[in-house]
Amino acid sequence: MNAAQQTLLSKIGEHMMHAMYFDLSRYLIAAGVLTAILWAGGRWLEVRRIQNRRAKRQDYTREFFSSIRTVFFFGVTTISTLVMREYGLVNFTIQEFSILTLAWQTAVMVIAHDAYFYWMHRGLHHRKLFKATHLHHHKSRTPTPWAAYSFSTWEAITEAAFVPLFLLATSLLGITYVGFAIFLFLWHMIIRNVIGHAGIEIYPRGWVDNRVTQWWNTTTHHDLHHSSGNYNFGLYFTWWDRWMGTEHPRYKQEFRKVTSRQGETVTGEAAVN
Ligand SMILES: [Zn+2]
Ligand SMILES: [Zn+2]
Repeated sequence: MNAAQQTLLSKIGEHMMHAMYFDLSRYLIAAGVLTAILWAGGRWLEVRRIQNRRAKRQDYTREFFSSIRTVFFFGVTTISTLVMREYGLVNFTIQEFSILTLAWQTAVMVIAHDAYFYWMHRGLHHRKLFKATHLHHHKSRTPTPWAAYSFSTWEAITEAAFVPLFLLATSLLGITYVGFAIFLFLWHMIIRNVIGHAGIEIYPRGWVDNRVTQWWNTTTHHDLHHSSGNYNFGLYFTWWDRWMGTEHPRYKQEFRKVTSRQGETVTGEAAVN
């Protein structure tokens, strides 16, 4: 191995460490902060627990360690994206940008990822793919915030592929993405992801009955996906499930039930068993 190859390898190693550090800290901060909020919420939040069933210690362990594996694949994807950038295949910049550019680029990326996630997720639920790819995530029947990245290797690769694919598409269209928009997108992704797996509904009463907020996914939405299977495939917004007829028939009803329990204690009855 010559000196140039050695330099390249150490550069790749360094980038890989930075990428994994960024992905790991996002996961630990988001899941850790939400766990702390739910714990601090005490009885006030406990009445909003969606399922009667509780996650076991082995669920937490599985969710945590498979999320660490996902972080590794996210790191590999970041390196691949940087290599693609070196070869001029993808284009993004860390130079100056306007707030308007940042806002629309972040919004476009979130909306595009929501579509990517919906269709990819439905694809992984196909009986020929489910066992090999997505069954691992569904081992969490009662998800916790730590399930956010709990994927099999194949699912981790499919999930991580979005960013390079998206940047490839925008580069082909001649759009230079702002690095900070990608950063905001990634933070938004993990925050919404841990909220979806919280197990306790944190959105306010009336959320699903408001003309605007009804399009924004809640914890109950994704929790119903984990407890009942073939409904609610969307990640951030409800529109794909509504357009495609895959919204859980009792979604709004369950949300109203969970959020109207204020002040009561959860005894025998829970929204979902
Ligand atoms: Zn699923
Ligand atoms: Zn999930």
